[in-house]
Amino acid sequence: MGVEKDSAIVVRSFAFKEADRIITFLTPSFGKVAVVAKGSRKARSRLSASLELFNIGELVFFEKPNRDLHNINSFDVAEPIGVLLRDHFAVAYASYVSQLASDISLENDENPPLFYLLRSALVAVLAAGTVADLRAIARCFEAKLLTLSGYRPRLDTCVACGAQVDEEEVAVGVSIGGALCPDHAHQDRTLMVSAPGIAAVRGLTGLTFEAAVAARMTRRQKVESKHLLTMFLAERLERRQRAAEYIDDLEANVDEMAALAR
Ligand SMILES: [Zn+2]
Repeated sequence: MGVEKDSAIVVRSFAFKEADRIITFLTPSFGKVAVVAKGSRKARSRLSASLELFNIGELVFFEKPNRDLHNINSFDVAEPIGVLLRDHFAVAYASYVSQLASDISLENDENPPLFYLLRSALVAVLAAGTVADLRAIARCFEAKLLTLSGYRPRLDTCVACGAQVDEEEVAVGVSIGGALCPDHAHQDRTLMVSAPGIAAVRGLTGLTFEAAVAARMTRRQKVESKHLLTMFLAERLERRQRAAEYIDDLEANVDEMAALAR
């Protein structure tokens, strides 16, 4: 209670009343923190420039007991990611990872690993040179997020009986959360994934974002890892991500443009 200070990332921002904004931050010690930034929509507000989405800095806020909305004292930007991101693909991917992190976090939920995961993902998004880099960062983030939330897909052995799964094509149970041997594949809605696709997903969690960008996946591995990871996430979050749908559209457009240019 009282004045609190923590590192913070701006993950949501929307207009409130005539001149205010409601800003949601992700913090290591307090989870999500929503504040009212009074007057921040006025043209000359000093605060408004610092409160761009994806900016990372030090937040000082006054915590109101038993309230969802707190008062912001100051936000000192250390990494102005939101100001530096100008490519619309990069902005879309930054939104995607921020929304996923925000959906998993709760108010007053201390979770430093989640904060640092989002922070390094945003730094990687800023450094990305191509849409392929951005896609690799998204897959790596999804895999790490599942592991962090305790939902790392079990892909080396059958979830039902523990038998080694080493088929060329592995059935992955979406609700059950992992691979199923041929004897147990009927137990769940399954997605068929090739052995190299399984290997790619298993490897992603242990990679840094830089290594994920540098790793060369085949086209099939890219498609399969995306299907598997986004289906797992949608299942855990109990709804399809709006941001994921946006990314789908965006990627379809890029593929179309590439096909036309050929
Ligand atoms: Zn089995």
